[in-house]
Amino acid sequence: MADVLFEKVAFIGVGLIGSSMARRMSADGLMSEIVACARSEETRTKVVDLGIASQTFEDPAAAVDGADLVVIATPIGSCGAIAQAIAPALKPGAIVTDVGSVKQAVVDAVAPYLSAENAFVPGHPIAGTEESGPEAGFPELFDGRWTILTPTDGTDAEAVEKVKVLWQRMGAMVDTMTPSHHDMVLAITSHLPHLIAYTIVGTATDLEDDLRQEVMKYSASGFRDFTRIAASDPVMWRDIFLNNRDSTLETLQRFSEDLTALQRAIRRGEGDVLEELFARTRKIRRGIIDAKQAY
Ligand code: NAP
Repeated sequence: MADVLFEKVAFIGVGLIGSSMARRMSADGLMSEIVACARSEETRTKVVDLGIASQTFEDPAAAVDGADLVVIATPIGSCGAIAQAIAPALKPGAIVTDVGSVKQAVVDAVAPYLSAENAFVPGHPIAGTEESGPEAGFPELFDGRWTILTPTDGTDAEAVEKVKVLWQRMGAMVDTMTPSHHDMVLAITSHLPHLIAYTIVGTATDLEDDLRQEVMKYSASGFRDFTRIAASDPVMWRDIFLNNRDSTLETLQRFSEDLTALQRAIRRGEGDVLEELFARTRKIRRGIIDAKQAY
């Protein structure tokens, strides 16, 4: 069995990401005990039935008692209130980390509540599915995927290293960058594509009935791929756009300009402009496959 990295780990939020981490940690013996916190009794019962945690709590402060590592894995809009609730109950030396898809807003919301005795190591695994809840998680979710850590200047280097090793032991590759840089990168690679998918699927939903039926019937021609992305959790994505407003709006502005240019090329019949762009984008797809981030 591999070395134990943390004796007791507390998950605040144990849905797709939290339960995948917990499953992997248990499978690989990375901790001795896992406890979990969720608001609803339904989630807590599922967590126990699935054998993900030895104990569950409604109160986040009770969950973190005696924990060496606390993982906040709830929608990002709740991270500040959770930090406020757990701060007085944290064991001195306990490390706090999170998995939120936006980093600067989470750092701003969480860090002010934590004392110098509790390092906060913000993190974001670039892995997921459109499913939610504890039953959606699986231990291989992070295999070969990147996790980005966004420590700030004052973050304890030893704590960052421990969280980095944890992610590596869960199968991930780890990169480090500033929270604001992370938010700009993710605005283009994740947040904008989701916004586009939500828009396209929304537009199709607004069509008259007969046309909408046909959109569903012939969805394999492209629409279907957008529906997968647009089926992602509504609360999680509401929080992402509200908390990464500036980078999303900046990226959206560039996108609108490029879309207008493409519109003009189509109107003017400029086939060479279209072909040149489509050839470039095809190369990007091949690059992603070469980097083993798609198959
Ligand atoms: P999820 O499957 O919906 O799970 C969220 C969990 O948090 C549930 O157990 C939920 O249970 C609990 N919860 C929600 N609000 C809470 C609160 N205020 N206090 C305590 N527990 C609370 O969500 P997820 O997909 O794992 O996402 C969690 C985080 O990971 C988000 O910040 C998201 O940005 C990030 N992330 C997601 C993905 C992805 O693809 N899904 C990828 C990378 C990162 P109750 O409702 O019973 O409380």
